Amino acid sequence: MKNIVVAKFGGSSLADGKQFNKVKKIILSDESRKYIVPSAPGKRFKDDQKITDLLYLCDAHIKQNIPFDDVFSIVKRRYLKLVSELNLSMDIQKELNNIEEKIKLGASQDYIASRGEYLNGLILANFLNFQFVDAAGLIFFKENGILDEEKTRFAIKSRLSNVDKAVIPGFYGSMRNGEIKTFSRGGSDITGAIIASCVEANLYENWTDVSGFLMTDPSIVDNPKNIEKITYRELRELSYMGATVLHEEAIFPVRKAGIPINIKNTNEPEHQGTLIINDVIAKNCMGTITGVAGKKNFTVITIEKSMMNVEQGYCRKILSILEDNDVSFEHMPSGVDIVSLIISQPKLDGKLEKIIKEIDIKCSPDSIEVHPDMALIAVVGRGMNRSVGISAKVFKALALSEVNVRMISQGASEITIIIGVENNQFEKAIRSIYKVFED
Ligand code: ASP
Repeated sequence: MKNIVVAKFGGSSLADGKQFNKVKKIILSDESRKYIVPSAPGKRFKDDQKITDLLYLCDAHIKQNIPFDDVFSIVKRRYLKLVSELNLSMDIQKELNNIEEKIKLGASQDYIASRGEYLNGLILANFLNFQFVDAAGLIFFKENGILDEEKTRFAIKSRLSNVDKAVIPGFYGSMRNGEIKTFSRGGSDITGAIIASCVEANLYENWTDVSGFLMTDPSIVDNPKNIEKITYRELRELSYMGATVLHEEAIFPVRKAGIPINIKNTNEPEHQGTLIINDVIAKNCMGTITGVAGKKNFTVITIEKSMMNVEQGYCRKILSILEDNDVSFEHMPSGVDIVSLIISQPKLDGKLEKIIKEIDIKCSPDSIEVHPDMALIAVVGRGMNRSVGISAKVFKALALSEVNVRMISQGASEITIIIGVENNQFEKAIRSIYKVFED
């Protein structure tokens, strides 16, 4: 098996000379870290600006016919300072002038935004003494903006096959006509994942400023425990509930290729971080959960009609009303004569009354109840489907904390229990569930 690690470093890991030095130490401490994917420099302190944000601002100025020079000079100063902090002899001024010239000539928004990664990649390659390989020649998009997997795979395989160590800027690639195109924000994660899958890496490291995932939200629970291992499926369930460190789309290429992702902290490199692993090889961790996350502000519409179970197409009628009103739903727990629709509140803004009226007319239910201000909590754990007693523990904890459970749904995914509570009991519920699984 090849020993190749692809390491992506986020913006805060590369925000200034001090961070660059930490990154260099990390990369050089392991020979297998061969392909390095940098983001653009991020914030150095709380109220600092991210380079990518400044570049988007340049583009916004141009679109409104406002001079962009002032904003672009902040970008220039950041890179000049960085190169001087690192004592590099490269001519970054020339690159900056080139870019400025292209912007003046009407460069696209994607081109402008991508220069943050491009310049950072040049600097990092110079600093590490690695080859710089431009992502424009590796990552390709089709006309419709979707990744051209075949062309990309071929380009990466052939271009990198005899390059031992390289820095490849994240976030962008090119269209068939050579124009630069970026992924959505945070897209360097995707670049790293694509490179990892194409070079058949045995590990994709994602270096950021936190030591992986926490079992729950630290703004609700003090110092929650770190998750050592999580499966892709569990991660999907938890990130759907808002617990994200990683760009969602970054998961697919590596998951498909069976490559684990290690989320690590540049500021605490000895910490093991979180390892995201294949669902199949993961051992079930019996008796415990992996994490608990949740979101507030859902509305539950409960529709009751006796003999609903024998009436064909009843749910279809309800769902087509939602569709006609351009509203999607999150969950749909049902009973013999009853079905509930759980919908994110903002999606119903200005539409609720109309939807209720239409359900009343087209479905003639016995009753419709609307219950706003609900929160959903997902208790996620791959051990859940095999071990007895996990849900008992969850509900006992909630009962002891006097949390009123309004809805329970285990649904198709046996690794998650979704619990509906009132918004105002949300934090209490999360704390009590976390507490029983803490050790
Ligand atoms: N620099 C880009 C952004 O801020 C991409 C990335 O950091 O992944 O969105």
